[in-house]
Amino acid sequence: MITVQNLTYTYPGASAETLHGLNFTIAEGEIFGFLGPSGAGKSTTQNILIGLLKQFGGTVQVLGRDIGSWGHDLYEHIGVSFELPNHYLKLTARENLNHFASLYSGATLDPMEVLGWVDLQEDADKKVANFSKGMKVRLNVARSLVHQPRLLFLDEPTAGLDPVNARKVKDLILRLRQQGTTVFVTTHNMSVADELCDRVAFITAGSINVIDAPAALKQQYGKRDVLVAYRNGSEMIEEQTFALDGLGHDPSFIQLLQTAQRLETIHTQETTLENIFIQVTGQELNT
Ligand code: ADP
Ligand code: MG
Repeated sequence: MITVQNLTYTYPGASAETLHGLNFTIAEGEIFGFLGPSGAGKSTTQNILIGLLKQFGGTVQVLGRDIGSWGHDLYEHIGVSFELPNHYLKLTARENLNHFASLYSGATLDPMEVLGWVDLQEDADKKVANFSKGMKVRLNVARSLVHQPRLLFLDEPTAGLDPVNARKVKDLILRLRQQGTTVFVTTHNMSVADELCDRVAFITAGSINVIDAPAALKQQYGKRDVLVAYRNGSEMIEEQTFALDGLGHDPSFIQLLQTAQRLETIHTQETTLENIFIQVTGQELNT
């Protein structure tokens, strides 16, 4: 669905390059996550992939064609949710969706159905000026879906959402993938990347550090250790670490289980995607 080779980009008038040679491909039906701290170049990349920023270096193919060879008909096939919602504030949510639906030549969905997906059906006839930030973000996601695009670009789709609404948006994205939609999602939110993405690219300062499936990254960087916390009489908790592999035949582990006066906890030490990000990139995600 997307092939990017040696993508470089410098903003007009800027003294420094923003993207330094990105390479990645996105397969049909995949949720591909672009994960990185703010300023890394995620939105810039999305804006190149949707044809908004043009004078880039390298090759960008979207839906089988060079991005530069697409005209406005590209927007019949892709859905875009920008980082900063840009709605008509004086119109209601329903009027906003009706307006955007009218711009497409193909079939569009009933706005009320799409509003239901993001739990805004009760607010359909309220002016968007009176919406909270989270409601605007959800309306933004809804708007990207009215024409049932095969390829969806979501820039920070859970920014400003409380956990319940973030969960709803994440479930919606998973449901769309089940129906065959391909999703490019940019985020600095680790749980979005971990829960949703088939593959993630770690991006910092305009370069991709690694691309892989979250589970594969955890397997590669995880420690596969078991930490036992216990007490032997005193108030002090003592800890010992054992390798998970061969644990059942590890005499010192078995001996500890038999001799510790009181076991407090036994935990495997799975690493998190966040820890891996820090380990690989040397940067925090500042979520
Ligand atoms: P992200 O989405 O990962 O937070 P961006 O793609 O928005 O990052 O920004 C990447 C870099 O490009 C940042 O250093 C940012 O300041 C710069 N940048 C973004 N937009 C512009 C612009 N319109 N003109 C000049 N520089 C920009
Ligand atoms: Mg951004």
